[in-house]
Parts: sequence; structure tokens; C-alpha cells
Amino acid sequence: MTLNAGNAGNRAGAGAHVHDADSVYALTAGPDVPGERLDGDLLGGDLRVDVAVVGGGITGLSAAYHLAKAGVSVALVDARGFGWGASGRNGGQVNPGLKHEPAAIEKAFGPELGARMVAFAFTAPDKVFQLVSEAGIACEAQRTGTVRAAFSAGSVGFLERATAELQRRGMPVEWLDRAAVAQATGTARYTAAALDRRGGSLNPLAYSRGLARAAAGAGARLFPHTPALSLARMADGWILATPTGQIRAARVILGTNGYTDDLWPGLKRAVVPVFSGIIASEPLAERDAARILPGRHVLYEHESITVYYRLDADNRLLMGGRSRLRPLHGPAPFPDLRRYTQRLWPFLADVRWSHGWNGQLGITTDHYPVIAAPAPGLVACIGYNGRGVAMATAMGGELARWATGTPEPALDMPVRPFTTYPFHGLWPIGAAIRIAYGRARNALGI
Ligand SMILES: Cc1cc2nc3c(=O)[nH]c(=O)nc-3n(C[C@H](O)[C@H](O)[C@H](O)COP(=O)(O)OP(=O)(O)OC[C@H]3O[C@@H](n4cnc5c(N)ncnc54)[C@H](O)[C@@H]3O)c2cc1C
Repeated sequence: MTLNAGNAGNRAGAGAHVHDADSVYALTAGPDVPGERLDGDLLGGDLRVDVAVVGGGITGLSAAYHLAKAGVSVALVDARGFGWGASGRNGGQVNPGLKHEPAAIEKAFGPELGARMVAFAFTAPDKVFQLVSEAGIACEAQRTGTVRAAFSAGSVGFLERATAELQRRGMPVEWLDRAAVAQATGTARYTAAALDRRGGSLNPLAYSRGLARAAAGAGARLFPHTPALSLARMADGWILATPTGQIRAARVILGTNGYTDDLWPGLKRAVVPVFSGIIASEPLAERDAARILPGRHVLYEHESITVYYRLDADNRLLMGGRSRLRPLHGPAPFPDLRRYTQRLWPFLADVRWSHGWNGQLGITTDHYPVIAAPAPGLVACIGYNGRGVAMATAMGGELARWATGTPEPALDMPVRPFTTYPFHGLWPIGAAIRIAYGRARNALGI
């Protein structure tokens, strides 16, 4: 096993494009989208638009794209670049559904809204692949299916019940027994798995930049490196202040998720910004790639600690899982992921790891995403609990519907108050305990 010391040493400083230096996606994502500079002096005053969006990840960019396409004037600001947050550095897995299973969703939100939420979340990958095709985004998108795999008795039982439920609902999900999952993954690690044909993968940085290009092409005004410093309510809408100028808008959408700051009081405490990390190998030989994932499915484990992996278009193996709770660079700080790769596929002993990085994703108290409307004309959408590639894309469309006057009860995801974690400041300690506990359970196979 070889580490690329050059990459490990190539750190981006605070405030720089961390993933430009560290993630493998920048190799093939194409150029950054320059956007515009918000300059109050040049504008001769404030920029006036119908809708202002804070956050240039998939949530904000999808909302801006949908709004611009509908002829609504929209301006988006991001403190960094487009896709700088979780959106440009995630595992690139386009997975259907929410963290909870359909029956649980319908129980929690009632049969009518629950059924709409199920339909919405399980068709979210359709929206990604449709958008990629409609906007002509080159991001290595492929719809090869998502595998949910399990090895512990409890998880296998859960997965079996969940798969039966999805099949009863007519969803395209196949049960893979021990032999079938070994065939699909090249490892004997798993007892069983479920294959959902609706999932797939893409290069998330290329996707985010493609969304930005598509939004700008449709007429959205995009301002990177423009932090929103404050929001003030006026009689006719909102004033959003940045270091270089102000934006006046009738409505505001906050899509800041795991990078939420103090812009709106308390919102930061509604999500726990859990870190997840990924290492990427140098391209594997074709015969090794065909041995580990012959169907080129994406896989995530349904276990105490989620490990997820896939091959990219160049046969690089991307292994993801929990990470230490601070920005990390290069493959060296992820020994658990490297060891786990050896455990899954001992024949990959000579794999060379070239890249490693991590990022923050938003977890909510009940593991459902939250659309909150804490003041008139203001909405925040956070907490996809690890399902943001598909869900944030779909949610952007819902936020655009909200901003163009669709009544809240008619949206396919509920608008509800955000709840804050009571001991939010202590989350790193809680997360560390949770990870250690999950690792112990996984080691014991329970
Ligand atoms: C390592 C990792 C792996 C993951 N793997 C997967 C996966 O395989 N599949 C999947 O579905 N999901 C995955 N996720 C989750 C997914 O990436 C997120 O749910 C999704 O990208 C969230 O998008 P977003 O636009 O809501 O937030 P983000 O992409 O995090 O964007 C938030 C943006 O807000 C900006 N911002 C914050 N405050 C301000 C401010 N005051 N002013 C201006 N800008 C501001 C930030 O700069 C940032 O760009 C993963 C996440 C991580 C970190």
C-alpha cells in the first residue's frame, strides 16, 4: 500500500478550495464557475431580485436553476466556491429514499403527506438524471443501481423486512443472498444485500459546477466568495448584507446545511455537522475493477457505522466512512478505511491511495430533512442525513415552488419548525462515542 505524500502535503489553507487540492473530483470536474462579483458601488446601490439564495451547494444551485428557468429573478451567494461544501466532495452516490423506510414515514407524517414524501424521496434520483440530461451536465453520471449491504444479524433482518416492504410497493428492489452479494461485490463480507436499480453515481464536483453553469445560463446571478453576513427584514422583503454589497429580495432561501453559521439565530444548532471522509485509489487494473464491482453499482453498508464505496469512471476505488472531526487532507489520516479495504478484498494489497479528504454533512434530530420557515418569506432547508445528492436536487425544485407561491401544505416535503439539539456544543464528544460504539459493534458483527 502506498500513500501519495505529495497530495497529503498539498494542503489548502483555511478559506481556500479545500477539495480543489484534496478531492479526486477536481481532476475531471472541469473548470470552476467564475460567477460574478457583487459590487454595491458598481451597481449604484443594492441588487434587487425576487429571490436571494444563500449557499452554493446542490440545494441552493438546484433552487436557483429551477427559479431562473421559471423566469424568476434570483441571486445566489456562497461564502466559498460553488460545490465547495458537502456537494462537491461527497461520495457521488445518487441514492433513493430517506433514512427511514416508507411505512415509518407514513406513520410519522400521516398517510397522505407521508405517501407524497415517499414518492418524492424515492423518485429523487430520477430528478438528478433528468436534470443532468436536460442541462447537458458532463459529470460521469451513470445509473447502475445502489446496493445496501449487511453482515450483522440485526441489520440483515432489518434489510430483509425493508426489501419486502419496498417490493410490496412495486419498487424495483432485488434481494441479493450471500452468493449473489459476493458475486456483486467480490467479497465474502456480506450476508445479504438489496439492489435498488434507481440509484447510481456521478462526479459531485462536476455536477455542482454543472448546476451552477446551468443556473447562470438560465439567468441566475451567482456570486461566489460572498459570505452572507446578516439578514434584515424590511416591510417589503429582506436585505441580505455581504462585505461587498447588499441584495434586496422578497424571499430568501437558506441552503447552508452542514456549514450553517450564525446567519439565522439558532439554525446552526438544528443540524449536527458530522464529518465523513473518503480515500481514492489510483486507477485499478480493469480485471481488479471487474472483480470487485462487476455491475459498477454503488454500495453502502447498512450497519452501525456506514461505509460506502464505488468505482469512478477511471476505475479509481472511492472508499468512504466516518472521519475524525476536523478537516483532513490526503489518504494518511484514514487508516481505518485503508485497513477495511484490505479486509474486503485481500487481493488489492498493492492498491495505491492518491487522495483523501473529508467534509461536513447535516444530521437532524429525527433524521428527516427539515424545511423550516422561521419568518415570513424566509425558508431554510437542511439535514439530508447523508442522502443529499438526490434529495437536495429534488428539494431545490420544491424550494423554487415555495418561492413562487405554492402554499406550504401543497409541497411534497413538510414545512415545520426546526428543533435544536439541546447540547449542540457537545456534539463532537457524542459523535466520537457513537463512532467508537459503532466500530465495536461492527467488530463483533452485531
Ligand atoms: C464526505 C461526504 C460524503 C457524502 N456522500 C454522499 C453520497 O454519496 N450520497 C449522498 O446522497 N450524499 C452524500 N453526502 C451528503 C451530501 O453531500 C449533502 O447532503 C449535500 O451535498 C448537501 O448539499 P447542500 O447544498 O444542502 O449543502 P452544502 O453542499 O454543504 O453547501 C452549503 C454551502 O453553504 C455555504 N454557506 C454557509 N454559510 C454561508 C453564508 N453565511 N454565506 C454564504 N454561503 C454560506 C457554504 O460555503 C457551502 O458551500 C456526503 C457528504 C459528505 C461530507
